[in-house]
Amino acid sequence: MQRILVTGGAGFLGSHLCERLLAQGHDVLCVDNYFTGRKSNIAHLLDNPRFEALRHDITLPLQMEVDQIYNLACPASPIHYQFDPVQTIKTCVHGAINVLELARRTGARILQASTSEVYGDPSVHPQTEDYWGNVNPIGLRSCYDEGKRCAESLFFSYHRQYGVDIRVPRIFNTYGPRMHEKDGRVVSNFIVQALKGEPITIYGNGSQTRSFCYVDDLIEGLIALMENEASRAVPVNLGNPKEFTIRELAEATIELCNSSSELTLAPLPHDDPKQRQPDIRLAMGNLNWRPTVALHEGLTLTIADFQTRLTPRRKQLELCGAVLGRIDA
Ligand code: NAD
Ligand code: UDP
Repeated sequence: MQRILVTGGAGFLGSHLCERLLAQGHDVLCVDNYFTGRKSNIAHLLDNPRFEALRHDITLPLQMEVDQIYNLACPASPIHYQFDPVQTIKTCVHGAINVLELARRTGARILQASTSEVYGDPSVHPQTEDYWGNVNPIGLRSCYDEGKRCAESLFFSYHRQYGVDIRVPRIFNTYGPRMHEKDGRVVSNFIVQALKGEPITIYGNGSQTRSFCYVDDLIEGLIALMENEASRAVPVNLGNPKEFTIRELAEATIELCNSSSELTLAPLPHDDPKQRQPDIRLAMGNLNWRPTVALHEGLTLTIADFQTRLTPRRKQLELCGAVLGRIDA
């Protein structure tokens, strides 16, 4: 049993990670400033005596005793990280220094949630870990992309200079239940639009590609990486290599939601990467890990979760009543 700190623990990935670590018998401390995270994501964990939640902004130092740190705190959706770009950079950079100082003082092993965005709009495809990337340092996405690149640099510098025990996964687009309905990323946008019968907003012509990983697969990869000695101080891609165009994702979402939504085109955001696909040979070799959930399966589970959240409570009770009535009859 370890004492584990999860920063950003009330967010989408963080809440799934806290849940999984608790199930493994660990003591989990969730730290979050609730910028994009929600108390409802962790409400079901609060009764567990091994779980604790603390409101704190990681741009300020932390004092506690821990054995492992997962640093996930950072808005991940373009609309949220571009809302206050300076705060995004501070979260990436000051936040990284604060958690690394904590790791240095306590001797804790520390994992940084890095991202495929460090590759920018990549000229190497699929992306391997030794590719240095193609990032616009002054563009709208740079607060996140360069912030995350600087955080990686800090992690490797603390490792080389102070011997801090680091793990650095580069996470590719991950989706699943508990994504915020107003998150703004493509999977949640398309599901909400399809369920409401609203037009599906494709940015550009929809020929850009992404590779979508289901949350359970990703969490398994993160924990395997944290525990893996061979992956000490090397960046490791984690994601699902099956690549889809955004138009294909839109069509699959409409079909699975049984929706009458139509496609509508909107302008492509600045510096939007044209293609993205992880090369995961390193993770497969070192961690014996590979994603197992196909897009249709993962989307079905995610749609079911959104359906429950988007259905008003009154309607849910009516449906429940109707089912009970049928059982009685
Ligand atoms: P999310 O927005 O749901 O979660 C981020 C969490 O961090 C939220 O709970 C938010 O309130 C918290 N937070 C933000 N700034 C903070 C601060 N200064 N102090 C304390 N808490 C703060 O996003 P997510 O998808 O769960 O992403 C989690 C991490 O994984 C992020 O670091 C993100 O960059 C990384 N990542 C995610 C993806 C993905 O596809 N989901 C891909 C690549 C990388
Ligand atoms: N996208 C889209 N419609 C939306 C939201 C996003 O077409 O409503 C596109 C976006 O332009 C990008 C892709 O989907 O090409 C993935 O966007 P997301 O914001 O999910 O993640 P990222 O660009 O960071 O991979």
